Amino acid sequence: MRVGLSIGGGVSVIEDLEPQELAADGFSSVFLACYEDDIRWEAQAAADFSRACVAAGLDVYAVPLGYGCVMAPDASSDSLYVREQAHNCQVDNRGRRVKKACPNNPAFLEWFSSKMRTLAWLLECRGFLWDEPSFYHGRGAWACRCEWCQRLFFAQHQHEMPHEVTGDVPHFRRNSLLMFLLAATAAIHAVDRRLESVVMPTCATGARQAGIATDQLHPVGESSAVDVLSVYVPWQSQSRDMEVAVRNTVAMAMTATRRHRKPVILWISGSPHPRDRLLDAMRVARREGVEHLVIAGHQTLTASTVYPRFRTSLSQTIERLR
Ligand SMILES: [Zn+2]
Repeated sequence: MRVGLSIGGGVSVIEDLEPQELAADGFSSVFLACYEDDIRWEAQAAADFSRACVAAGLDVYAVPLGYGCVMAPDASSDSLYVREQAHNCQVDNRGRRVKKACPNNPAFLEWFSSKMRTLAWLLECRGFLWDEPSFYHGRGAWACRCEWCQRLFFAQHQHEMPHEVTGDVPHFRRNSLLMFLLAATAAIHAVDRRLESVVMPTCATGARQAGIATDQLHPVGESSAVDVLSVYVPWQSQSRDMEVAVRNTVAMAMTATRRHRKPVILWISGSPHPRDRLLDAMRVARREGVEHLVIAGHQTLTASTVYPRFRTSLSQTIERLR
């Protein structure tokens, strides 16, 4: 089992990180958050860091965040595109623009593809992780009902889009996101055909709300936009039993990818604190057949003040589970 680390926080964080040390601790991959704003101003720092990671023997995966916020696991994500191009954003069922670009909007799609091509040129990386692509959903509200979505819906279903998420709407939203991921993947493949497209469906809400989610993995596992399926087990925040949560999530992901034999990446949150049971969770993942585990993330683990006392047992565990 390979063990990776996710690194959020942007350029200010990576300046203090030493890829050689991460490799020495046993990590074999890093998932690097690439914020729209950071890449605009500090592209060179991100490029230098990815090069240093590769030199240290780490596989780098880019995780684009912002960029219209279609991929926005964190509701507070910032995107200059969203602020400046509000007319290309999703429209909810009350007719309001929300802070997420519409994946069916051709102008956004063109802008996004061009940004991803640039990022793929910039970073030495093995692949891209598309983190929780979703449509907007809130209390009693859902998107998108913009003119492009309405037109596309009518063309596909020969009737107007309903005002509720009923009938063909869930299917339409899911297909829209999968088509968006196909375009995103085509953009990075235009730079290098070998780049992996790793898709992380959202786990906080169901597919009915977000479009695609962990409660309906089959269409994601079957999609040609997906080279690798990534699943997150937030057992702590959902107050679930760790072993049961890991086992069930791995089983669901493996069932969804079995037919096309796609690899699965499992994510867990980790810190040196005993309540996070990081080393136990790693053992359970290995026992369930996980080949690539990612720990989220740097802030809670490797940047923790008690990490120096924890790192030996962590690296020994990684070594034993290899
Ligand atoms: Zn739309």
